[in-house]
Amino acid sequence: MKKIIGSTLIGACLLFEACGNPTTDAMGNDTATASMAMDTMSTKTYEVSLVNNKKDPTCGMPVTAGISDTAHYEKYVLGFCSKECKDEFLKNPKAAIAAAELK
Ligand SMILES: [Zn+2]
Repeated sequence: MKKIIGSTLIGACLLFEACGNPTTDAMGNDTATASMAMDTMSTKTYEVSLVNNKKDPTCGMPVTAGISDTAHYEKYVLGFCSKECKDEFLKNPKAAIAAAELK
């Protein structure tokens, strides 16, 4: 049951793009100035068990380092270290999916 609720939350999150975008990510980078700065949510992370990828397909960072945003791709849920990485992935998911090392 917990997983179903989690997936629903992630799905709902995708409707609000700023939802999973922390002001400061795990790397200490200030992402708030990057693009969408309408962020009223505090830092939010996702459990590694909720996603199907081992690595952020955009930057190659292991998802165990922290997931700030997620995206649905085909039947998978992918975790990303930042919204920027998700946006980059979504531009060309077919080319990047191999780097995600799906479980
Ligand atoms: Zn990344």
